Amino acid sequence: MSPIVLVGPGKDLVEAHRLLQQMRPALRFCYPDDSLAQAAEVAICWAPPSGSFARLPQLKLIHSVGAGADPIIREPSRPASAAVCRIVDPGHCQGMLEYVLWGVLHYHRRFDQILANQSQQRWERLTQHGAQQTRVGVMGLGQLGKAAAEQLARLGFATRGWARSAQPLPGVATFTEAQLPDFLDGLDILVCLLPLTERTQGILGAETFAHLTPGAALINCGRGGHLRVDDLLGALASGQLRGALLDVFEQEPLSREHPLWSTPGVTVTPHIASSASLSVIAEQILTNIDRQQAGLPLFNRVDTALGY
Ligand code: NDP
Repeated sequence: MSPIVLVGPGKDLVEAHRLLQQMRPALRFCYPDDSLAQAAEVAICWAPPSGSFARLPQLKLIHSVGAGADPIIREPSRPASAAVCRIVDPGHCQGMLEYVLWGVLHYHRRFDQILANQSQQRWERLTQHGAQQTRVGVMGLGQLGKAAAEQLARLGFATRGWARSAQPLPGVATFTEAQLPDFLDGLDILVCLLPLTERTQGILGAETFAHLTPGAALINCGRGGHLRVDDLLGALASGQLRGALLDVFEQEPLSREHPLWSTPGVTVTPHIASSASLSVIAEQILTNIDRQQAGLPLFNRVDTALGY
């Protein structure tokens, strides 16, 4: 078979390469600068540098090492005829669920306020509310959002979910794309688990925040491109939002000078909400390589027109 080209950069890519080679010693890997790459039919990447695919004329499959394929889809040199696939690790849901639950409980039980009080040696017993009084909305009801929304509903939160199409879920009030204002109206906590597409870029902005209950909180685990940072800073300053838990950023790592590090009410985590296991990444890529070679339909194929 033709060599497989690794289109950097990315730590996951280096680790995936090592494991793939171990699992299939017969496979040949190369980098885009290598003359062998001209013949490559399969590329593996996370965030391809601009113009990467222009030098790879034979590509038939571009496989992401992550759950999202947005940097691949946005890359202008991507050949339209090549299939794009992503990783779907059922274990991913557990990590994301833990992260989202931590964030929801943090705001629901007002630990943000309690920690702020501690820094001022202030003893204040805040009134507790039942979970059913906290309205939590999950944007995106795919592999990850569905699991989070279902679990939040099971814990008693007044849970809503938003997806492009109708996605009925037990215990969750679900809304379609056109029903965005109804979904947002009066939410106490908004969780973003959307893919980054042309339609979702910048969706976490002033217009969205204005629908939430004053003093609401935001949890963004989708992509940095969903958030309009200036709008967030404005909403925090006005009190429309009281806090934001952010795991993803337009530029990662977040630069040391970025205002988000030190904005009161903002918690920054370094894109750690959930990661797919390396063995699942390697197994799914190998399975799809085999299927591509055999002319079979690929697993976890991204709809490049929709962007996810
Ligand atoms: P899926 O592709 O399985 O699901 C995407 C969901 O978003 C679907 O429910 C889809 O609707 C919905 N959606 C897409 N476009 C729109 C739109 N325009 N309006 C309303 N809803 C929309 O994705 P996953 O659940 O696997 O992952 C979601 C995202 O989470 C990833 O794309 C990635 O950005 C992020 N992620 C973050 C991680 C982290 O550690 N922070 C780790 C892994 C992923 P429908 O059901 O109708 O198709």
